[in-house]
Amino acid sequence: MAIKCIDEIEIAGKRLFIRVDFNVPLTDNGEVRDDARITAALPTIRYAVEKGAKVILASHLGRPKGEVVPEMSLAPIARRLSDLLGQEVTMAPDCIGAEVSSLVEKMKEGDVLLLENLRFHPEETQNDPGFAKQLAGLADIYVNDAFGTAHRAHASVEGIAHHVKVAVCGLLMKRELEYLVNALASPEHPFVALFGGAKVSDKIGVVKNLMGKVDTILIGGGMAYTFLRAKGYEVGRSLVEDDKVPLAKGILKEAQERGVDLRLPVDHVVAEEFTPDAAYKVVTNKEIPPGWTAMDIGPQTIADFSEVIKGARTIVWNGPMGVFEVETFAKGTEELAKAIVASGAVSIVGGGDSSAALKAVGLADKITHISTGGGASLELLEGKTLPGIAVLDR
Ligand code: ADP
Ligand code: MG
Repeated sequence: MAIKCIDEIEIAGKRLFIRVDFNVPLTDNGEVRDDARITAALPTIRYAVEKGAKVILASHLGRPKGEVVPEMSLAPIARRLSDLLGQEVTMAPDCIGAEVSSLVEKMKEGDVLLLENLRFHPEETQNDPGFAKQLAGLADIYVNDAFGTAHRAHASVEGIAHHVKVAVCGLLMKRELEYLVNALASPEHPFVALFGGAKVSDKIGVVKNLMGKVDTILIGGGMAYTFLRAKGYEVGRSLVEDDKVPLAKGILKEAQERGVDLRLPVDHVVAEEFTPDAAYKVVTNKEIPPGWTAMDIGPQTIADFSEVIKGARTIVWNGPMGVFEVETFAKGTEELAKAIVASGAVSIVGGGDSSAALKAVGLADKITHISTGGGASLELLEGKTLPGIAVLDR
């Protein structure tokens, strides 16, 4: 059953506790360095303000480990949010307690109050019921719009929902669920999954879960070398997780049995050392020299993967095809990003580095949906139930 959203309930005049993800990077002098996460929460905040709700915002910032760390105050975020909204945002001295309660009591319809860092209290990450109840006591309605933390059973994400009458998702969360759950439940075929990035262990669960849904799985990036090892190739000093080789073997076998077309790179850009200006060359699977490291997929692989992507109607992409941070080894990632956009398929991208790579080539706005939550999106794609989503009203 579909999860209830803020736009399906009556919120005028109500006190709304909105859990947002304002865990943004700050500069050395404590200013907001990148406000993408604040911007992402604006639709829900604006909606609540326009409907005349009393808007109480809560987030964590960094890892203060249950203590008050002044450098991790949300005050700079209140200032930036105020600029973005064009209205005053009151900064609370804490997230619970008498002072906060009295600030909430004074709120008028359309007012915005930002609570101080939830993680200044150890009870937040412990999902302490008493703390959750205190947070819940501030509001009539709970709204979760912090997709990036939905996989954590913390007090403001999970516990709080047990102490309110109404618990719904925000507009950002709704969009994430629409693409990461609904779209993938009934995808248009051919459905292609493209994986890359550093570690097999991060993504193996997703590969396994999507096995039953996709037509083709393409594996590049650092992940590919554990799979190539599993097929018996010598991969020099390329990234291999030795303990995952048996698992990779199992996946290759399963793909074969289920008739899933699982493709690995057929050629590589290898470097003599793992450094930006090392000597490099293009080799096939059988030619990776001992001591050399695969840094990117080669031209033949780019052509092969792009051809598959060209015919896709739905694409899920997670993880760069190579060490894209270095210009020389960014080509595989860039070319596949272009292929995804050119395919015209519904494209869903997860992972911070993959979206950074898309931004770098100016293609981010051509993707159907770029998830704002790395870990949370992976867990959803693994088919897991996230604690922060499980507690919301249906
Ligand atoms: P995302 O953030 O999109 O989920 P990951 O964090 O899993 O992606 O992986 C990104 C990292 O993987 C990048 O830092 C990139 O340099 C690295 N990477 C990609 N290909 C290779 C490779 N062949 N060898 C080593 N690292 C690689
Ligand atoms: Mg990453």
